[in-house]
Formats: sequence, structure tokens, C-alpha cells
Amino acid sequence: MNRPYDPDNLFARILDGRLPASVIDEDATNLSFTDINPQAPQHHLVIPRGSYTDLSDFAARGSDAELAAWVRALARVAEKSGVADAGYRVIVNSGGDGGQEVPHLHGHVLGGAPLGAMLGALLGASPRGTAG
Ligand code: 5GP
Repeated sequence: MNRPYDPDNLFARILDGRLPASVIDEDATNLSFTDINPQAPQHHLVIPRGSYTDLSDFAARGSDAELAAWVRALARVAEKSGVADAGYRVIVNSGGDGGQEVPHLHGHVLGGAPLGAMLGALLGASPRGTAG
């Protein structure tokens, strides 16, 4: 999706210190913090420090080093939050149909209990897309 990056979005404000966050991990290109409204016993968000709106934007404009570091940060947060051995889920909501609320790319790391089915029933939803 081609939408301009909003420099005042919630996660931009966490990145530059305008808003507080409970940081679980950080490196040169990523910041990870606990979700304010957890949907599982462990629920953390991993965001690149760069100004990327969503996964498509990150894939198009991020460097290979940034992409690799973000994936490693996701796995490191699973380790640090104690869910890596039992299993966990990474979710990246992207754009409107994806349910993305904050327009700065973030991966959700969820775990700490069996998470059940991947998605709720989508029967009745109007299909979009071309693959498949
Ligand atoms: P999305 O729906 O965009 O994929 O996820 C946004 C997430 O950000 C939600 O899970 C929501 O609970 C979380 N969130 C919203 N505002 C804040 C905040 O101020 N601090 C933190 N730590 N998480 C937030």
C-alpha cells in the first residue's frame, strides 16, 4: 500500500521518547515493547526504527540488513519472553483488511498459552485478491 508515513503515529512517538513503553529488547534498528492491551499471556510488538508504514513498505524500501535484523528481533523477543520453546505466533497486520491500526510496521509476538486456530471464521466475507 502506498500511503505516506505519519511521523506522529503512536509508534513514532514511542521511538522518539514522546510516549513511554515497556521495552523488552532493542538493537540498532529495532525496538520491542509489551503491547498495552495484551491478547495472550505474552504479547509484544517488534518495530523497526525506520519510518515504514507496513510490511509491503518495509519489503520495498528497507535494506536487507534491516529486514534480517527485524526477523531476528522477532525471534529474540520470543526467547526473552520465555515462549520460544513452547511455541508462539507472529502476526503482522497490514493495511485495512489486515486490521492494522497503527501505521508503523509492527510484528506481534504472542504466546504463553495454546493460541488456538489461526483465524476466526471468515465465512461470509467477500473475497479479494488474485492468487489461489
Ligand atoms: P495493529 O492492530 O495495528 O496490528 O496493532 C496495534 C497494537 O498496538 C494493538 O495490539 C494495541 O493494543 C497496541 N497499542 C496501541 N497503543 C499502544 C500504546 O500506546 N502502547 C503500546 N505498548 N501498545 C499500544
